[in-house]
Amino acid sequence: MSTCIFCDIVEGKIPSEIAHEDHLAVAFHDVSPKAPTHVLVVPREHLEDLDAAQPGHESLLGHLILVAKEIATKEGLADGYRVVVNCGSDGGQTVDHLHVHLLGGRPLSWPPG
Ligand code: 5GP
Ligand code: ZN
Repeated sequence: MSTCIFCDIVEGKIPSEIAHEDHLAVAFHDVSPKAPTHVLVVPREHLEDLDAAQPGHESLLGHLILVAKEIATKEGLADGYRVVVNCGSDGGQTVDHLHVHLLGGRPLSWPPG
């Protein structure tokens, strides 16, 4: 039995607002958006975090970033956007299934908190 909410979203067991789906990845709108556009791109494969990624995941990781870029284009983020991967507790990761945040639609400050 799955105990991972993002696996449940990937499998359609938990509803979400899907932005993109393909054989490797699913993207959906964040339930608690931190910007006008806030989409999460996740691999279908359960990987706990970026630390769990191996050299064999190179093309999957690249795919997640390219999907984020394609969604940014679809969402009309012509003035720019941010792509973020939080890893581990110091990185602010709260869901233990690797995900790429796409944030945009307003100016984003730097550095983040
Ligand atoms: P993290 O803090 O792990 O980098 O990001 C996890 C993100 O997942 C948070 O921005 C949080 O709002 C989002 N999130 C947590 N649970 C759900 C959920 O059930 N559905 C959706 N769409 N987003 C979720
Ligand atoms: Zn998972």
